[in-house]
Amino acid sequence: MIPRRRIRIDAADLADLLRSIWRRGAQARADVAAFESDAASYLGSPHVFATASGRDALDLILDGLGLAAGDELIVPAYTLGELLPRISARGIVPVPADIDPATLNLTVASVAARVSPNTRAVLAAHLFGTPCDIRGLCALAERHGFALIEDCAHAFGARVDGKPVGTFGIAALFSLEVNKPVATFGGGLLVTRDAVLAAFAEAALRQRPGGEWAAVRKAVTKIGEELLVRSPLYGPLAKMLFSDSLRGRFERFYRRTHDRLRAGPVSYSGFQARLGRRRLARLDARNVELNALRAQLAASLAGPLSNVVRDRDGEPCFYNFVARWAGDTSALRRRGQQLGIDIALGSEVMDDVAAQLGDCPGAAAALREVIQLPCYEGLAAGQVARLAAGLRALAGAA
Ligand SMILES: *Cc1c(COP(=O)(O)O)cnc(C)c1O
Repeated sequence: MIPRRRIRIDAADLADLLRSIWRRGAQARADVAAFESDAASYLGSPHVFATASGRDALDLILDGLGLAAGDELIVPAYTLGELLPRISARGIVPVPADIDPATLNLTVASVAARVSPNTRAVLAAHLFGTPCDIRGLCALAERHGFALIEDCAHAFGARVDGKPVGTFGIAALFSLEVNKPVATFGGGLLVTRDAVLAAFAEAALRQRPGGEWAAVRKAVTKIGEELLVRSPLYGPLAKMLFSDSLRGRFERFYRRTHDRLRAGPVSYSGFQARLGRRRLARLDARNVELNALRAQLAASLAGPLSNVVRDRDGEPCFYNFVARWAGDTSALRRRGQQLGIDIALGSEVMDDVAAQLGDCPGAAAALREVIQLPCYEGLAAGQVARLAAGLRALAGAA
């Protein structure tokens, strides 16, 4: 079976990992500073800080901008569910705005409909690498006097009119998690043009204990998982773990173990920074290569299976090949497995965070219909051909 996700591991990364275990933390500060400076020049932003995770960067942004109890933060109704408790823990009220089913992103109209006198900021995601209408949202934020924060977890390297996303709002968070565009076994970036927020972040991050060991432990665990994903055991294992009887329990277990591995409030490590510099240097080439592969595979989508529009508002980067299945997805997992394709469905792709509110139909439809298909670096030509044939069979068999 062709796994839904795989991670890239280079020989240079393994060699560096071994060296890091040996020389624990030597050079860390200089390497982190060099990575931050590379990222600042790539993005063209004056202040970039490496953080423990994307959500850590969000915490620092919320605190540094002075959002406090009673303030409202408009969030996409379809995004990572784990962001919400961190917002609520501060007494900030997350207000979900619906997404456009065609782009899976917020729209100016859906955000405008949620603005109230208590709105202090909007968290605008560029979901699955597709830029949202960031210029429209900037204008809306200016008109109403609230802050625009960009969630670029999926969007490293995406641009609008040649300008990288993450540089439009007052601040942005990026994620460097294992499967994100620049993957360094966890970590994140806080990007801002605001000197006050930058000073706040710098002071907060200076207090942190070293994260070298947490990063090494996570890398070793994830490489172990990856060996399993690439082994012949993956097919039977995936069929079992994603079966109707085990799936819910497995998803909770997986999220919990992943949480335990996620670094707490520690410094970004030297090992991650060196990896980050290598990945950033080839980010544009990676995005071009994977966008071309996605386009090639998308040509096999037909019938109920359709591509999600990806280039309406700018130049997308690559993060996950997502497609829409118009109709009932309940038999899709089994059908995919028979064709040798491991398909992710529902909350395995993304969360409907407005579920309790019940009035964001775009997000509810996305949760039902958006699926994620295999597409990553290292797919062999034979696998690409099998995948394309499998996708045509899926579409035809409906
Ligand atoms: C991954 C992700 C984040 C946060 O990233 P972490 O590094 O895992 O904390 C934020 N938003 C979205 C939409 C994400 O997918």
